[in-house]
Amino acid sequence: MKKPLWTLGVLIALAGTPALAEVTLKGPLEQGALVVGQTDPAAQVTLDGQKIMVSPRGFFALGFDRDHAASATLIVTTPDETIETQKLAIAPRAWNIQSITGVASKYVSPPAADLIRIKRERELKAAARPCDTNEDFFAEDFIWPSSGPVSGIFGSQRIFNGEKRNPHFGVDVAAPEGALVVAPADGIVRLAEPDMFYEGGLVFLDHGQGVFSQFLHMSHIDVKVGDRLHQGDPIGRVGKKGRATGPHLHWGMLWCGTRVDPSLKIPGIGAEGAVPGMKASNN
Ligand SMILES: [Zn+2]
Repeated sequence: MKKPLWTLGVLIALAGTPALAEVTLKGPLEQGALVVGQTDPAAQVTLDGQKIMVSPRGFFALGFDRDHAASATLIVTTPDETIETQKLAIAPRAWNIQSITGVASKYVSPPAADLIRIKRERELKAAARPCDTNEDFFAEDFIWPSSGPVSGIFGSQRIFNGEKRNPHFGVDVAAPEGALVVAPADGIVRLAEPDMFYEGGLVFLDHGQGVFSQFLHMSHIDVKVGDRLHQGDPIGRVGKKGRATGPHLHWGMLWCGTRVDPSLKIPGIGAEGAVPGMKASNN
């Protein structure tokens, strides 16, 4: 069943204040979603006890992982110390099982010789994902970073060459080799590496407050660390480097380490069954 998106505007009236403070939430309250909130820029916000940054325009981001529990607690404290507690119901999603064969064995069970490189690259990636950039580029609607049929959706349980591995934390666009990759929203480049073990050509784009786009398997990169991009600016070219069985763009999204579904940031794209052009996967 297709769920309506972007309709869940929740208004939380804060009792006792002469002018009611409002909290607006935009986005689906479901597993794997990134939800954009807006409130008084001076308010304090926590989600399940974790302090949430609020931008000067009052925007904040809430991420719910693939296996998030059925509820979350949002607490907003206004400057006059009025406290509003809201229980958010987080809808469960059904996940596909995706079996992929023909993956080079070194990507399924990496040999000892590659483990040092994998560890070094893991540290490089962790250091390039700051969670404290108080920009709010994530608040805008996103566009697809490349055009083509979607060949892999977020959350699928992956079976590589018959062996169970991590779920698919991103969306795959089966664009041809050399196709243009563009910024789906404004952001700051935090990582631009041409040849990572798993990811091939890899770019991290920081949309603020720990919200990152990740672009994998690129054959060519047009940006460097520190570049400030606007929506639609070129990032690089689609490739098949790293753990890929064919050319495609893997677009992943993180919120302070929580993996979320980037396709939900595009207006009109549903979480289930509404992704256009599903066809054979190439991870
Ligand atoms: Zn992928």
